[in-house]
Amino acid sequence: MYDLVVIGGGPAGLAAAYQAYQHGLRNILILERDKELGGILNQCIHNGFGLHRFGEQLTGPEYAGRFIKMLNDTNVQVSLDTMVLDVTPDKKVHCVSKKEGYRIIDAKSVILCMGCRERTRGAIGIPGTRPAGIYTAGTAQRYANIEGYMVGKRVLILGSGDIGLIMARRMTLEGAKVLACVELMPYSSGLTRNIVQCLQDFNIPLYLSHTITDIQGNGRVEKVIVAKVGPDRKPIPGTEMEFDCDTILLSVGLIPENELTRQAGIEMDPHTKGAVVYENMETSIPGVFASGNVVQVHDLVDFVSGESELAGASAAEYVEKGEPESGRVLNLQVGDGVGYTVPQRVRMGNVDKNVTVSFRVRRIYGTSSIVVKSGDTVVARFKRERMTPGEMEHITLPRVLLEKAPQDTLTVQAEEAQKS
Ligand SMILES: Cc1cc2nc3c(=O)[nH]c(=O)nc-3n(C[C@H](O)[C@H](O)[C@H](O)COP(=O)(O)OP(=O)(O)OC[C@H]3O[C@@H](n4cnc5c(N)ncnc54)[C@H](O)[C@@H]3O)c2cc1C
Repeated sequence: MYDLVVIGGGPAGLAAAYQAYQHGLRNILILERDKELGGILNQCIHNGFGLHRFGEQLTGPEYAGRFIKMLNDTNVQVSLDTMVLDVTPDKKVHCVSKKEGYRIIDAKSVILCMGCRERTRGAIGIPGTRPAGIYTAGTAQRYANIEGYMVGKRVLILGSGDIGLIMARRMTLEGAKVLACVELMPYSSGLTRNIVQCLQDFNIPLYLSHTITDIQGNGRVEKVIVAKVGPDRKPIPGTEMEFDCDTILLSVGLIPENELTRQAGIEMDPHTKGAVVYENMETSIPGVFASGNVVQVHDLVDFVSGESELAGASAAEYVEKGEPESGRVLNLQVGDGVGYTVPQRVRMGNVDKNVTVSFRVRRIYGTSSIVVKSGDTVVARFKRERMTPGEMEHITLPRVLLEKAPQDTLTVQAEEAQKS
């Protein structure tokens, strides 16, 4: 029996396994379906990773490489090319690989680190014919950066998520003409630094409040029709623009890869589409933890590592001491302008000094506050100069303030500053 089985060997799995080792576990196994560790970072050859963690601008493979190097100095075991098919509530992990066939692995604790996948054309239902030349941005990135193929020459990007923005720059550097990036919402869902460095620096127009209304092409994409949308997000007739292009890249959102989580019967959060987690990243099944993009879609990998280190340390504590003291449980709820919170629950018996809560706002805010309330009582207030849905927010709630909450619910909400 393993002390800990980590499912997924991306940045989340690597950090979680290393931290569990640092906290004393010696019998740890990482199961990864790909042929190498590193997860999505392996195809992210641009820099910008690790500014918070290492104070350096690293590429994705360099960032993953740092953690892989640290793991090489431990006895953490890795099974590559191994697909996990099922996790049961009693922590039996069913997996299959060419080398070892079908295995059922017993674990004292499990950390779910399966990351997320991209939404496709089918998921958002774009009208038009079904020619070749439509890719998710991440697929195009893999072709360009790992397989060595260019997917097209005249490109339109739908969605302004970070992957689409990064690929606008990447395709341009490889000689393609990126005609525009088209975004349904009145704001971009990507990081501001990516809008500047990947679109503005290359004079690629960003059409906010626009969408694709038709895709035309015989065999391959030939033309795309884009129209402005109203506040109801419906196309406005008469605002159509035509783009002659051979390729569409979709950057229209990521879906946490939670089939295993649901199969295990773990309580899910409809806002994050990931597991409901406690303050220590434990799910509703004792001894099963989750971290990284499978819990919430992160913008920066540095935060994935931090969250996963907490999961790794918590798994070690669970194996050594059992379930933590629960005490009073506070339920976090989303209030005005907030999309979700992680964690969703806080067991006061397991809070030493403070709890960090992550979330995203649902629209752009100027000077504003994040307010944490319990009933009508304001428990904490944090000032912000600016908040956007593309950038994850973090607040740290000290235990002393949490103890003052009159009710067992805490509502996190965003408030625009009053203009004087
Ligand atoms: C295109 C792109 C650009 C980005 N750019 C930046 C950037 O510039 N700076 C930055 O800080 N962050 C960036 N990020 C974000 C960062 O890369 C992610 O937040 C991070 O990789 C998430 O880590 P993860 O381990 O949760 O998921 P992943 O990296 O997706 O790893 C999940 C792993 O789990 C494995 N897995 C899944 N299911 C199973 C299963 N059933 N059995 C076995 N293995 C399984 C997968 O194969 C994968 O290796 C970018 C992300 C993308 C996609």
